[in-house]
Amino acid sequence: MPLEAGLLEILACPACHAPLKDRTAAETPELICTGADCGLAYPVRDGIPVLLVDEARRPE
Ligand SMILES: [Zn+2]
Repeated sequence: MPLEAGLLEILACPACHAPLKDRTAAETPELICTGADCGLAYPVRDGIPVLLVDEARRPE
């Protein structure tokens, strides 16, 4: 399910405020933080990004 057009542009990582990369076309839709020292992956549930640090997947 694609995100609403333009939505990604206003979204930023709540942890470091870096822009997010759209991975919603993947099997497990996620928004990936582009911050070099962050890289948290936020889940997208039913087309709605869950931008909570507690819900984010940490990079390996
Ligand atoms: Zn971040």
